[in-house]
Amino acid sequence: MDNKYKKLADAVFPDIHKSIDYYEKLYAPRASKGKVVTRFAPSPTGYMHIGGLYVSLINQSFAQKQGGTFYLRIEDTDQSRILENGVTEIINTLNNFDIQFDEGPISETEDIGIYGPYRQSDRKEIYQTYAKHLIKQGKAYPCFCSKEDLEKIREEQISSNSSIIGYSGKYAKCRDMSPDEAIKRIANGEKFVVRMKSPVTGMNRVVVKDIVRGEISTEDNYIDTVIIKGDGLPTYHFAHIIDDHLMHTTHVIRADEWIASLPMHVQMFKMLGFEVPQYAHVCAILKMDGDSKRKLSKRKDPEARVGFYFEQGYPVVAVKEYLLNLINSRFETWREQNPTTSYKDFEIKLNEMSKSGALFDLAKLSNVSKKIIKSMTDEEVMSQVFNWSKTNSPQFYEYIQSNPEKFLQSITIWHKNRMDIAKWNEIETQFSYLYDCDFKNKLNADNELCDMPYYEEILTEYLKSYDSKDDSTMWFEKVKAIANKYNYAVKTKEYKQNPEKYNGSIVDVSTMLRLALTGKKDSPDIYQISQYLGEDESLGRVEKMISLVKKKDRDKIECVI
Ligand code: GLU
Repeated sequence: MDNKYKKLADAVFPDIHKSIDYYEKLYAPRASKGKVVTRFAPSPTGYMHIGGLYVSLINQSFAQKQGGTFYLRIEDTDQSRILENGVTEIINTLNNFDIQFDEGPISETEDIGIYGPYRQSDRKEIYQTYAKHLIKQGKAYPCFCSKEDLEKIREEQISSNSSIIGYSGKYAKCRDMSPDEAIKRIANGEKFVVRMKSPVTGMNRVVVKDIVRGEISTEDNYIDTVIIKGDGLPTYHFAHIIDDHLMHTTHVIRADEWIASLPMHVQMFKMLGFEVPQYAHVCAILKMDGDSKRKLSKRKDPEARVGFYFEQGYPVVAVKEYLLNLINSRFETWREQNPTTSYKDFEIKLNEMSKSGALFDLAKLSNVSKKIIKSMTDEEVMSQVFNWSKTNSPQFYEYIQSNPEKFLQSITIWHKNRMDIAKWNEIETQFSYLYDCDFKNKLNADNELCDMPYYEEILTEYLKSYDSKDDSTMWFEKVKAIANKYNYAVKTKEYKQNPEKYNGSIVDVSTMLRLALTGKKDSPDIYQISQYLGEDESLGRVEKMISLVKKKDRDKIECVI
């Protein structure tokens, strides 16, 4: 080691006394050497984007399916963008979506795992030790250039049509500064950053490997990238190299916005003498906007925010199964072949992922979700709705809590053999006739079916003949008798053969009743609905509808007069 570089390193980092050997020993290879190690490394800068959930799911499933380790690392070196409680937000989101990590922060202050701390802001000394090591070897240096100096360099490069743009080679003013001068300037209290000395100073092509994209031939990094900023904290680029090395990450699976930095990252790993992990850059989640595709945007698309799915009440498994569809299209066939197996058993293949972007479609998510809800038992639905409503619909929560058994009965009505619901917040709106105590007063007679012949008479007859003790067969026999009395065909086939002979068919009569009980033309079984509502409520609605129809008729007459 050159003594002058050692002096420079001491001047740059006077408070760093440990050597890199200390950390290499402290973070010795994992006992599970040879097994996959992945990580999710978000910055706590705001709510989590669905892309973050997507990447974390890939990392978790990929590692855990192979008996490996998945850990959470908080990348908070850009202190100006950190959000208060940002770590809690990340932990809660992962928790809500059952993304379990083996190591990492479990609260704003606590970690689990022996490769921590897992927050980059707590690892400052480690990064500085490695940066000091690089300076000692002449592979990094302090740079005193101001913003204005950098701007000048840029202008010079542009005006001279230089193929090199950025802090590099002969343009990197501080790169070849003598250690003595640098030491003097530090002693003078001049501000500086630390840059790595890129071994490449001109145009050079390099091949980098990516599991999703294959071999990528690209321009090598010739920039002397900043590794330690003016505040003493590392840049993301440097921090992730040190962390992934010391935490023994085998696969870096992350968003493809980092692919342009890959040559620089590989270069850094090699400069430090570290083994380069395998990289997999995952495409962004896209959506159709008119005829073109674009990235899901935090600003424009509510579905970009992970909290959206939770608030709306999509079952967690539905969101995850839909994301697995996007990760590997093979998932759909796998699901058909293994209808009852947990999605956790699906094996993600990174090399089968799309190179161009996964197209997100809420309608497809709804289909997946409807199937999953259908496959649940009424009790499972009940427990999920109960938990969801606790934080997302206090009124509904109270309703369920006031009579859980009755609520369970109501689930059977819309759940058995039906696929109406894709998310829990649809229950109250789609089936308000089951849950709204004031539903009667919201009925109207606007539907054109209310103008069919004998509507009022049919409802009146229904009132008279109703007996809450009737079973469904008896109940339907009575409805058929009423239909017959007012010349509505009891057999639809006969009606279809001779429509002019009848006022309508039994289907119309059922729909008339349905309108009175539910306000809708379509609904689950109306016998079950009336049983659930009870005699008073269901007959009350029929009476109300009769009065609405009468009023409508009166209004019509007045209009004519
Ligand atoms: N902190 C980086 C981000 O949030 C993580 C990139 C990585 O996974 O290496 O984008």
